[in-house]
Amino acid sequence: MGEVTPILGGGAAAEPVNLPPAPPREQVERLVAASARTHGHLCPGQVIGVRMSILGLALLGYPCPLPFPEIKNLVGVVEIERCLADAVATATGLRFGRGSLKLINLGLLGATFWDMANQKGVRLISLEKARELAAGYAPGVEGEHAQQTEAYKIMPNHELFQARWVDLNLPPHELPGQRPDKVPCDGCGVPIRSAQVRRLENKNLCALCAGDTYFKQLEPLEL
Ligand SMILES: [Zn+2]
Ligand SMILES: [Zn+2]
Repeated sequence: MGEVTPILGGGAAAEPVNLPPAPPREQVERLVAASARTHGHLCPGQVIGVRMSILGLALLGYPCPLPFPEIKNLVGVVEIERCLADAVATATGLRFGRGSLKLINLGLLGATFWDMANQKGVRLISLEKARELAAGYAPGVEGEHAQQTEAYKIMPNHELFQARWVDLNLPPHELPGQRPDKVPCDGCGVPIRSAQVRRLENKNLCALCAGDTYFKQLEPLEL
């Protein structure tokens, strides 16, 4: 039987944080508006992602969005692929295409921000109880969705999130700025990038040749 380690509330005593309970309303509104434009709609997840970004970066001593050149110090990990991921990308400036934002899909409303310069990281997870508190922070707003969207803009950090210092376990080749050598596949010849070689029976194989794919191959096309 595996033991389940409690994540929430367990372990060392919490360290008090010297930050205002919520970031300036104007900063939140500006980033939520930008994020809703990119994402395609305004939703509670956008606000959670924006608040998470502002808080996570503030805990590491950075403003949000990240300015240049400081943005090069940071890597973000989002733990769900939906609304929150777009909000974190827009608010922080971290990007999947630059290797500075990662998706590790755990299906959790969580994100980690890692400061490569100081080897320091913080993980935030959205608290479910914030949903029930939303109405109290948005009196006069009709509808649960709209209430949450408005409430999350002003709700204190401690009611929205749980935070913890963490060390990042990503393999070094996944950090931004790393470019592992291309390796030709011994099966089909395509160059394999990003250290994604599968070693099988003493061969360097791409994911397809190793039988590790997310699709089923049908007829090829002639272009
Ligand atoms: Zn959304
Ligand atoms: Zn191959």
